[in-house]
Amino acid sequence: MKYDFKELMKNYETEAIKTLQSFVQIDSVYRGDTVAKNMPFGEGVYKALTFIGKVAEKDGFSVDYCDGYATEISCGSGDKLIAIYAHADVVPVSGVWKHPAFSATIENDVMYGRGTGDDKGPGIAAYYALKALRDAHLIDGYKVTMVFGGNEENGSACLKYYFDELKKPYPTYGFTPDADFPLIYGEKGITNYLHQAQVDLFPVISINAGTASNVVIDTAEAIIAQDDKIEDELKKRKLNYSLQMEKDTMRLTIYGKSAHGSTPELGINAGLELIAFLGEYYDLAALKNLASLYADPFGKAMNLYFESENLHETTYNVGIIEYVDTVLRVTVNFRYPETVNGEEIVERINEKTLVPTEIISTSPYLYFDPESPFIKALYQVYVEETGDTVNKPMTIGGGTYAKESKNTIAFGAAFPGKDNLFHSPNEHFELNDLRQSMAIYAHAIFKLGHEL
Ligand SMILES: [Zn+2]
Repeated sequence: MKYDFKELMKNYETEAIKTLQSFVQIDSVYRGDTVAKNMPFGEGVYKALTFIGKVAEKDGFSVDYCDGYATEISCGSGDKLIAIYAHADVVPVSGVWKHPAFSATIENDVMYGRGTGDDKGPGIAAYYALKALRDAHLIDGYKVTMVFGGNEENGSACLKYYFDELKKPYPTYGFTPDADFPLIYGEKGITNYLHQAQVDLFPVISINAGTASNVVIDTAEAIIAQDDKIEDELKKRKLNYSLQMEKDTMRLTIYGKSAHGSTPELGINAGLELIAFLGEYYDLAALKNLASLYADPFGKAMNLYFESENLHETTYNVGIIEYVDTVLRVTVNFRYPETVNGEEIVERINEKTLVPTEIISTSPYLYFDPESPFIKALYQVYVEETGDTVNKPMTIGGGTYAKESKNTIAFGAAFPGKDNLFHSPNEHFELNDLRQSMAIYAHAIFKLGHEL
């Protein structure tokens, strides 16, 4: 039987937009200072998780608040479980916004606000898709759970607790509306590791560069002993720098260009430029060694470049460089295809470096056969609802919410070619994209439930 999912969703559009506005108006940034019992991520996240739970209770769904880690909404029964994982937490607000970040202002059919695109809007689209199917008695013979996590932006402790502590089941098929359409069937493995050693780098007194392992360093600073020849050398090397005199020292700042850690080749790593310069200028072996190892973002300079047909090449992003009280710490975000063993590579780097490494965290790769019924079904739903046959299922550098579950992939809700400014000022979600996502998700849940 064929259903018109766009038609089915029409009656829910107004309600979905209203609910989304109220949801976005809750500032659900992680707040460590308001952590309490049943509020493991602070008050804002708690309010958002409670809000969506109350909406679902009022709509007649079963709701489990999961000790404040996540809100699980479920309906239907049967052995087959379809699961959807969205998140209710958002990243902090910075920069200049044309509408206040938690106002959820609608202008020209676009809703502005932190969380509109990542991930409250896509989550609400999936929720109303589920509600419409339930109201039309189309959740029959299978079970659906929709989970809103509270910690996706800070390590996904929400789903870790959900599966590991609460022992909730993994789904037969799952998707997370927290990335891009058409869909993502492969994600690289990611290992964060640290180079650390006690080393005397005088006349370098301290280095401070980068804030997160998965971002290319755009500004790098060093405090060094006074030196009247350094400026000539900086000029000779055509570095983008500034130099400030302080009491007995100088502050050297190098400017590069930021980029996401999964695509370090698109940025200019100011931290690496800084240590390469200081290493050579002062003949500091530890800095020279690190700068030469990471001279190529794909690992070619250290002979640790690998690629696969499915998930493509290795990338190494030096995200944080710190040197304080003679301790040097360098954090690297390493991404690799399914043919590579992350731990083994870090071991091999250890053999090449003067600054020993240790692994901080690892998340395995994710890969589904693009010809499998699951992937083909979701892609077919996307094509049928949008008419877009140009954009194909893809693989990425890795790191969506899908990795927290099993049998789960990222599916929407950012449409190809659109920049919804996730994590940036003026984050927004076009209401037309919200409407279209609702129909896609309804169709997807139905198809996975009935045809697979
Ligand atoms: Zn997200």
